[in-house]
Amino acid sequence: MSITNNLTKIKASLPENVTLVAVSKTKPVADLMEAYETGQRIFGENKIQEMTEKWEEMPKDIQWHMIGHVQTNKVKFMAEYVSLIHGVDSLKLLQEINKQAKKHNRVIDVLLQIYIAEEESKFGLDENELNEILNQVQNEKELYENVNIVGLMGMATFTENQNQIEKEFKHLKTIFETINNKDAINRFSTLSMGMSGDYKLAISCGSTMVRIGSSIFGGRN
Ligand SMILES: *Cc1c(COP(=O)(O)O)cnc(C)c1O
Repeated sequence: MSITNNLTKIKASLPENVTLVAVSKTKPVADLMEAYETGQRIFGENKIQEMTEKWEEMPKDIQWHMIGHVQTNKVKFMAEYVSLIHGVDSLKLLQEINKQAKKHNRVIDVLLQIYIAEEESKFGLDENELNEILNQVQNEKELYENVNIVGLMGMATFTENQNQIEKEFKHLKTIFETINNKDAINRFSTLSMGMSGDYKLAISCGSTMVRIGSSIFGGRN
């Protein structure tokens, strides 16, 4: 199957309210361009340097999403153009994004990454840490004028066990709803969950943004 075929099929299967991020990490620009010609405008990368090289080379109407773990000292390299940063998991990182966004007169959209998996290696906040961050941002609004927290992101455990994955997605959806019920003013719009192997399940659990790589571009080495 070609990238065009894969993409067309997946797009047709997504509900209207679900945004597709085409995860193009490790793939050459020619592959991304095939997706672009098929109409795809949102691409996800997990390394800032690779994303920046592709941004420089490719059409400027693309929205670039950073889906990987972000090191504070590298935020400056993407602040000019990044459209959404999925993996924010500390106030320190949020402050650095704010600082770099300000230099470019921008407001950068971010998602807070929530830890929902059972694996130990995954990044993310627990519910208490999430609430702490939201309270801090609320209490010191003037320090965060150039960042906009638009939702949450999470990754399920890498397992075949569908019940386990479903439980984790539902947990994230519950956190998302709790915040939206609590805060009528700053409601979250975006719940980023679901990848090639589990995006259908994620959508049935309330995902509004799926990050799909290998099912579009083929496997990675
Ligand atoms: C690589 C990656 C994806 C896409 O994974 P596929 O299984 O290839 O769809 C999604 N989200 C994150 C955070 C990733 O790093």
